Amino acid sequence: MDILVYFAIFFMGLCFGSFLNVLLFRLDKKDGIITGRSECTKCLKQLEWYDLIPLVSYLVLRARCRYCRVRISFIYPLTELVTALVIIAYFWLNGLYFGPSEIFYVFVLILMVALVFFDALYLILPDKIVFMAGGIALIYGVIMRNPGLTGLLLSGFLFGSAFAILYVSSAGRWMGFGDVKLAFVVGLILGYPVGFFAIIFAVWIAALVGIVMMALKKASLKTALPFGSFMAGSTIIFIIFKNVIEEKLSFIISFF
Ligand SMILES: [Zn+2]
Repeated sequence: MDILVYFAIFFMGLCFGSFLNVLLFRLDKKDGIITGRSECTKCLKQLEWYDLIPLVSYLVLRARCRYCRVRISFIYPLTELVTALVIIAYFWLNGLYFGPSEIFYVFVLILMVALVFFDALYLILPDKIVFMAGGIALIYGVIMRNPGLTGLLLSGFLFGSAFAILYVSSAGRWMGFGDVKLAFVVGLILGYPVGFFAIIFAVWIAALVGIVMMALKKASLKTALPFGSFMAGSTIIFIIFKNVIEEKLSFIISFF
C-alpha cells in the first residue's frame, strides 16, 4: 500500500519539477506563467499534452523535439527528477504524514530546488522565490509557535547580518546581496542551531568545490561560484535529515 503512496508522491514531485522548468525557462517572458502554453523554443510549435509528460516525454522523444528534432536541454528532466527525489527522500526519512508541517517543508523544499537551479544556471536568486520561502516560514512560525517566532527571527537576523558583513566588506565580490537575503530566510526556516549548521555546511562544500575546480584548472579565484545553490542545497539536506540531525545535535550539546 505504501508503495502506491510513494508512487503518487514521486509523480507529484515530477509535476512540481515540471512547473519549476516553466519558471526556469520563461524567466524573461512577460506573458505570465500560467497562461502561456508550452511550445518548442526553436520551431515554436505548440506542444501537445503527450509531449509534456514529466520525464516520460523526454525519454520517449530521446531528448529531441518531435517536430524539428532540436535537442531538448537535459535540465528539464533533471529538474523534474531532482524535485521528485527530494520529496520522496523527505517522506522516506520522516514518515508518510501529511500535516501542516509536512506541507510547509515540502513547499520549502520545492522553492529551494528552484533556487539551486536558478543560481547555478543564471547566478541569480529571484526575490519572489526567496521572499515566498521567507513568508511561508513566518506564517508557519506564527501557526506552530515552535520553536518560537522570536527565535526564528533572531536566527534569520543573525545569519543575514553575518553575510551582510561579508557582502559589504568584499564590495559584493564574495557573494551577492541575494545570498544575504537567502541566509536570513534559511534562519527563518531552520532556526538555531540547525540553520547555523546548514549554512556552515554550505560554506565548506562551496570552498571544497572551489578548491577542486581550481586544482582541475576549471576555475580561478575570480570565478563566481553560485553560493546560493550551495546554501539552498544544504537547506534541502538539512530539512530532509532534520529529525536525525536534531537528535544528534541535542546529544552533542548535552555534553556542554
Ligand atoms: Zn521544435
